[in-house]
Amino acid sequence: MLSIWETDSFYFPTDILIIGAGLTGLNTAIEIKSRKPGLSIRVVERGLFPSGASIKNAGFACFGSLSEILDDTKQIGEQKALERVQTRYLGIQKLLTRVSPSDVDFHKDDGYEIFTEREASLLKDCKDAIHDINAKLSTLLGFEPYEFTSNTFGFDTTYPLLKIKGEGALHSGKLVTQLLQKAKSLGVIFNFGFDIKHINSQGTLWYVSNGSKEFSAHKVIVATNGFSKRLIPEEDINPARGQLLLTESIPGLKLKGTFHAHEGYFYFRAIGDKILLGGGRNVDRENENTDSQEVSGVIQSALEVLLYKVIMPGKALRIERRWAGTMAFGNNNEKDPIIKELHTNLFVGARLGGMGVAMTPMLAEKLADLVLK
Ligand SMILES: Cc1cc2nc3c(=O)[nH]c(=O)nc-3n(C[C@H](O)[C@H](O)[C@H](O)COP(=O)(O)OP(=O)(O)OC[C@H]3O[C@@H](n4cnc5c(N)ncnc54)[C@H](O)[C@@H]3O)c2cc1C
Repeated sequence: MLSIWETDSFYFPTDILIIGAGLTGLNTAIEIKSRKPGLSIRVVERGLFPSGASIKNAGFACFGSLSEILDDTKQIGEQKALERVQTRYLGIQKLLTRVSPSDVDFHKDDGYEIFTEREASLLKDCKDAIHDINAKLSTLLGFEPYEFTSNTFGFDTTYPLLKIKGEGALHSGKLVTQLLQKAKSLGVIFNFGFDIKHINSQGTLWYVSNGSKEFSAHKVIVATNGFSKRLIPEEDINPARGQLLLTESIPGLKLKGTFHAHEGYFYFRAIGDKILLGGGRNVDRENENTDSQEVSGVIQSALEVLLYKVIMPGKALRIERRWAGTMAFGNNNEKDPIIKELHTNLFVGARLGGMGVAMTPMLAEKLADLVLK
């Protein structure tokens, strides 16, 4: 049994307990604590540090490419597709009020969409739509984000690039560190290395347990994204692996900005004089629906094809490291997050695919509205 001191000082019930210290958990803790400083909040994380997608990602602070809008329009209609872009854009602005841009190495160098030789029809669709979409987005964002520009980067394509004005990139590790510090400075309690296996309610409290120890709280928020199936299997939140590779140094590399290829399924940027390249889950979708953190030969080969054939044609490059992280999508590839009360005082904020950097500050707002209502 716990001593009276342990119970008094460490294991006491909090007003709110958040499971998962990724961008969702951290932004939600900060959002709630900023609105209600008197509430006690505990964040419980299974890793020794935050260890989900938030610390595995590519650090794009992006809000959407034109080809993504066209694709989303087919699924959810144009209005919703444009609002999705607006939400992400506002999310980045909100994030940058929470952390200082220089503390997270944020650079707004614009993004670019690349069209390879086999994507003539996608390019045509974008050319046909650019004027109309720019006009509509300018009322939502305050500027027209898309503009065709010439390929000055030496990519192996004869087509122009499509610039995404205002897109940026940051250092994902510094972002998580800054959010952690901010949350701690507001009085949020963190418990790392606690892998929650069970969530149960008793009386007015919810209990979360790792099998041997437990914490309790009046309200619990599940913010475990791609790992949520283990805790709340009934929800339509499925793991989806994302893979990356990082080249060794490339002397003289000049790659300023963030880049998207193959309808946004592939993306790359420079990290110093190295190239960080990721994506490609559309190539082997079935096998990528996993929370395994191993990389796969199929996806890594697809990334290398883009690297050697289009990004750095004819260059002999070496790969320094490869890694994978876990995102989440719905059964039919839905990418809007689920924000809801599952049972009285048990909430979920999860199902983030790409663009979590931009989406989590806004998700946290909605989640806080719901939890504090
Ligand atoms: C390879 C890759 C590249 C990406 N690139 C970008 C990008 O460039 N830009 C962008 O905006 N988005 C990108 N994303 C998406 C973005 O990283 C995610 O949308 C975002 O990080 C999701 O944040 P989260 O907090 O919801 O999830 P996570 O960061 O996964 O956090 C969930 C946390 O819950 C913890 N946890 C899980 N289960 C338990 C449990 N049972 N008990 C306790 N703790 C638990 C995990 O350890 C983890 O720390 C990328 C994702 C991947 C995988």
